[in-house]
Amino acid sequence: MECTTLESYDENGQMKMRPKKQFDTLDGAIAVAKIENAKPHHIHKVVAYKCKTCFKYHIGRNGKEIKEKDKKKLQQMFSDKLALEKKRKENPNFKVVGYIDLSTIRY
Ligand SMILES: [Zn+2]
Repeated sequence: MECTTLESYDENGQMKMRPKKQFDTLDGAIAVAKIENAKPHHIHKVVAYKCKTCFKYHIGRNGKEIKEKDKKKLQQMFSDKLALEKKRKENPNFKVVGYIDLSTIRY
């Protein structure tokens, strides 16, 4: 079962539908909803919900606007995560906190 959503109207006023993205888990849908809500140009809040038709999860607008405060919080969360991933990529050994410089040790 594939659910569709209205994408736009064509030149004849016919509805153009596109398939809705399906998620197997609520967590997966929430994760994507958070990414959407963190985007700077997104005004309307996207939420995850369970579908009564396909019994999977979709994300969609709930008609409310995202509060600036909430958007900032999400963006902060993602930038922290990205910074950490970047650090890991740049320096795969970054769990090594340091090494001992033997020349400074006197016997
Ligand atoms: Zn559905």
